[in-house]
Amino acid sequence: MGGSWVAGESGGEGAYSGSMIRDIEKILISQERIAERVKEIAAAMSRDIAQDLAGLEEVEREGQVVLIPVLTGSIVFVADLIRWLPLKLSLELVGVSSYPGKSVESEGGSMRSGLPKNLTGKHVVVVDDILDSGQTLALVRGLVLEQRPASVRLCVLLRKPGKAVVEVEADYVGFDIPDEFVVGYGLDYNGFYRNYPEVATLRQEAR
Ligand code: 5GP
Ligand code: MG
Repeated sequence: MGGSWVAGESGGEGAYSGSMIRDIEKILISQERIAERVKEIAAAMSRDIAQDLAGLEEVEREGQVVLIPVLTGSIVFVADLIRWLPLKLSLELVGVSSYPGKSVESEGGSMRSGLPKNLTGKHVVVVDDILDSGQTLALVRGLVLEQRPASVRLCVLLRKPGKAVVEVEADYVGFDIPDEFVVGYGLDYNGFYRNYPEVATLRQEAR
């Protein structure tokens, strides 16, 4: 991968960034490592889903794979991930509220938008940015299961081991990270930093 505006190429810092780059404390996972890992996850997911669909005729496969990204934190991840999935799939976005505003502690989730219907018999992959307390994914997973899908898998870019308060296993995990509040690559603080391309911590003064 080439350089990025983070490194100061394309004049990012000077021209426009405001205080965003200054607010970053330390980069935990670089753009390059994320990109590598996203490809690996996509490869594993493709293999698994190909196996699920192996017995089906081509016409029967149509519409069988549904990815459900959890808004808003997963958008950057899912945008990169799907371009490495050579499968005929559809996307159904769901909204779950947690971490409202400036909170940096997980406060459980509630559905902000309805779940897609017609998941019965489908192979579903729920995609989120991070598995922290597990409440978000447990909630979405439970609601998906009510529709009797053929399978449900959970995919997260990040996981904070030891933080789960509910039993929820992710099938695909990008990186385990320490229990620190992170931003970037889709993750926000108070709505900002989602466009920062690496996973990073925020300076204390920025919170
Ligand atoms: P859980 O329900 O597993 O506790 O939390 C999942 C949600 O909390 C994620 O989708 C994410 O929005 C938010 N979250 C958890 N940890 C972090 C973090 O370190 N940084 C940010 N920005 N969001 C987090
Ligand atoms: Mg979220």
